[in-house]
Amino acid sequence: MNKSVLLALVAPFLCFSQTTDEEVLKQIYKSALTESQSYYWLDDLSNKIGSRLSGSVGAEKAVVYAKQKMDSLGFENVYLQEVMVPKWVRGEQEVAYLTIGKKKEIFPICALGMSVATPKSGILATVLEVKSIDELKSLGEEKVRGKIIFFNRPMDPEHIETFHAYGGCVDQRSSGAREAGKLGALAVIVRSMNLRLDDFPHTGSTNYGDVPNEQKIPAAAISTNGAELLSKLLKANPDSKLFFKQSCEVFPDVLSYNVIGEMVGSVYPDRIMVVGGHLDSWDLGDGSQDDGAGCVQSMAVLELFKKINYRPKNTIRVVLFMNEENGVKGGLEYEKQSNKKGENHIFALESDSGGFTPRGFSIDCDDSNYEKILSWKTLFEPYLIHVFRKNKGHTGVDIGPLQSDKIVKVGLQPDSQRYFDYHHAANDTFDSVNKRELELGAAAMASLMYLFDKFGID
Ligand SMILES: [Zn+2]
Repeated sequence: MNKSVLLALVAPFLCFSQTTDEEVLKQIYKSALTESQSYYWLDDLSNKIGSRLSGSVGAEKAVVYAKQKMDSLGFENVYLQEVMVPKWVRGEQEVAYLTIGKKKEIFPICALGMSVATPKSGILATVLEVKSIDELKSLGEEKVRGKIIFFNRPMDPEHIETFHAYGGCVDQRSSGAREAGKLGALAVIVRSMNLRLDDFPHTGSTNYGDVPNEQKIPAAAISTNGAELLSKLLKANPDSKLFFKQSCEVFPDVLSYNVIGEMVGSVYPDRIMVVGGHLDSWDLGDGSQDDGAGCVQSMAVLELFKKINYRPKNTIRVVLFMNEENGVKGGLEYEKQSNKKGENHIFALESDSGGFTPRGFSIDCDDSNYEKILSWKTLFEPYLIHVFRKNKGHTGVDIGPLQSDKIVKVGLQPDSQRYFDYHHAANDTFDSVNKRELELGAAAMASLMYLFDKFGID
């Protein structure tokens, strides 16, 4: 009997303690690149279902689809966890234009998520361009009142890690309307969080904090090309007025679900290792990168363990969270329920940075666990996974609420150079995801979870 026949016969009973870790990682990667169905699940989510904004029909369909898929893959304890989520609807196509002489210059804009509408007849006002909230505040109410505030600070291209550039200017989107409203502005237009110059406006949540409803002002994003042009035209024509109209609306919260499935641990069924992404998306594209990719990669971790016949010692739980984009209600509810049940989470991994080539992991844990993870670095070398960054608090928004002294939290870190070309925009579609890159991400996630399951806790 040759070795491969023998291996095939014993495979279902393969004792992983006698297989080297190098060999297990090799099996995981081989399986991911040759037989994983994850790319086709993403095709279903993106092309059969489409965008999945919380409270939308798409989100409802995605919940049903993901549960059915987990059932059909033989995941254990598959269930839906109820969660109330916001329902915000964009309404009609937004309009913005500047009239200069006889020429009407139209700008590509989109309402920011959770924004209020303009009056039905729109807003017509002069525009005040600022680069920051600090600059806005220094101008004061006298200069701001009655204007449309145009926040135009670009992402800083000097950052190699584009998430740092995003972090450096996203306050314009998240807090710009709140702060401008307090100073009597009529509306805000925010430059899209995108390093590339193009015509796609990028949405994302704006947060009014405790501003009363009647004092909320409408907020929209403008494409980067649009922002450049608007800035140029305003310099030449500072008194020209911008017309701006949008009809978005917030409805009462609706019932939705986190989708959960497991592989129960063979030795420590009560120790839980979570892997997840968020099932909701923005409404403009189909959310393939953000975060359909993370959802199918998380499901692929269990798929790959099954395919290589690895039975984990700890319970591996896939959680597809609802409502990351405009409320994080799924992540908060998951933590609340797990506290109620007294669950013991030892590890949580989130993939929510796009489906691009994986480079490594962002890790939030104590020193001893970090040292342990670092000791596995050489195992990842053949797969070009080299980033093992201790990064407190920056692993994943949905796993953020999980608190325990000992929990190890990890975020998959793909190459970030192109992520903000697509993030929250109409071009975040299935064709932007490369099949191999997606599968390599799933393999990196499964490999880390295998190692942590085997060695992570003594
Ligand atoms: Zn996301």
